[in-house]
Amino acid sequence: MGELIRILAVARGQWLWMAGGILLGIFVIVANSLLMAVSGWFITAMAVAGVTKVSFNFFAPSAAIRALAISRTVGRYGERLVTHGAALRVLAELRVWLFRRLEPLSPGVLERYSSGDLVGRLRADVDAMENLYVRIIAPLCAGTLSIVISTLFVAWWCRSAAASLLVFLGIAGLLLPLIARRLAERPGRKSVELAGELRTLVTDGLQGGAELLLLGAVDQHVERVDEVSRALVAEQENLAGGAAFNVAGGVASAGLGVAAVLLCGAAAVANLTLTGPHLVMLLLFSAAAFEAAGGMPGALQLFPAARESARRIGELSSSPLPVPDPAMPVPVTGDWGVVMRGVSFSYEPSRPVLHDFDLEVPSGGKVALVGPSGAGKSTVAELLLRFREYEGSITLGGTELRRHAGDDLRRLIAVSPQRPHLFNTTIRENILLARPGATTEELRDVLVAAALDVWVAGLPDGVETVVGEGGSAVSGGEARRIALARALLKDAPLLILDEPTEGLDATTEKRVIEQLRNYVRGRSLLLITHRPACLALADTVVEMG
Ligand code: ADP
Repeated sequence: MGELIRILAVARGQWLWMAGGILLGIFVIVANSLLMAVSGWFITAMAVAGVTKVSFNFFAPSAAIRALAISRTVGRYGERLVTHGAALRVLAELRVWLFRRLEPLSPGVLERYSSGDLVGRLRADVDAMENLYVRIIAPLCAGTLSIVISTLFVAWWCRSAAASLLVFLGIAGLLLPLIARRLAERPGRKSVELAGELRTLVTDGLQGGAELLLLGAVDQHVERVDEVSRALVAEQENLAGGAAFNVAGGVASAGLGVAAVLLCGAAAVANLTLTGPHLVMLLLFSAAAFEAAGGMPGALQLFPAARESARRIGELSSSPLPVPDPAMPVPVTGDWGVVMRGVSFSYEPSRPVLHDFDLEVPSGGKVALVGPSGAGKSTVAELLLRFREYEGSITLGGTELRRHAGDDLRRLIAVSPQRPHLFNTTIRENILLARPGATTEELRDVLVAAALDVWVAGLPDGVETVVGEGGSAVSGGEARRIALARALLKDAPLLILDEPTEGLDATTEKRVIEQLRNYVRGRSLLLITHRPACLALADTVVEMG
């Protein structure tokens, strides 16, 4: 329950809309029941008046019927408009809130989740929150309040009929839903889990399709998908069974409820405490009142799945920040010298990556970091960027990195990583991310510096070529050079280049190194490389591993 309340608290700006939707829901249920009631009474009273030849004013009831019919229709339209509007607004707020919470978790926490599972799961979980209001909260609130109103209305005419109506409304609106909820608890939870697993398997299988083909493992993978899919269908069948039980139970209790009102009402008619037309009125009113209870079983059946989704959203969004900012961050000053002293770090406690590591990059200095793969070179860059917490001391311009806000630091550091992420947009926009206000000349210069100019000129759409999801439409080397161009365009005094010339032929590499010389002038440079030609850019070489 706490998780759901937390989600609702995020959307507290929409509470008015949500309350409005519920009120309209009650209005529609009551208007519909009254329409039935007045119609039933009117027809019977007219018939009785005809038989007994008593004069009868039919203008007022027929006007009331027209008014109720119009109100019901307009009310239903308004209720749909407001409830769905509220649900969409809640979703919009939730998405923005969640993105803001998740974004800083990206380097240290989210990588623990496989991307297919994370994206698919989050989307499904957030979408499930649309149900939370439209299919759970609104029907439960409107249903409960309408049951109270309906019972009071019937009690006004006949207490015993109201009591029996309340019993059957309680069965339909409360007992059956509770049984349904019990039935849905396990399959609801299991189907959310299995759907997540299925999404991961399918995404993984599609993304790694080539590997599966090469390894002859397609059948094995398909079998896994089939297995999980069958398990999911089985759980969904259990859910559907519960839903069917609900519908059948609901219809049966409505029928029995109306029969009970008829029995009590008939007794009242015999006692002359109720007239015939009023009995018909109560019968039709009671039949319509079951509409109030109609949405409740479904709501309680969806409840466990919604709670599970809310729990997972809560769990992910409340993961502690891997590197929290200090309460009073110190502004970053104008000295860009980095000193690492006795730095230790491990991703997993049992496998230290850096142990008592020292490194110095003087302000404006150029340091190359060399060493075998896995020695921890990229990790050093991650620590400088404050994506991970470290032991020991790392200072920038004499101030410990922990005392700066992470975003302030990252604003001053440009990075060209070994495995960059490209956004699914054009080459130009991918590069301009580093400095949106850069001129066409500046863009052209960094394209030349990253040896992309000739390749880009040969593309039909030039810099407007879209690189595909995660850079899937360009080669790994091209993606890395786009990231290099992006890093060079950023106006940052400290530059970290991770294998900037990897995959280039000797001539192009020479050209890139010449160009880089201009770009690194006046900046501090940390160069991670194992290419001898690249070392020409550095004035100090530090060996790792
Ligand atoms: P290098 O850049 O020198 O090749 P890295 O800094 O990338 O080395 O990696 C150092 C070690 O840390 C490697 O053994 C690697 O497997 C491990 N490692 C790197 N990133 C992670 C991570 N996100 N989670 C767990 N281990 C990691």
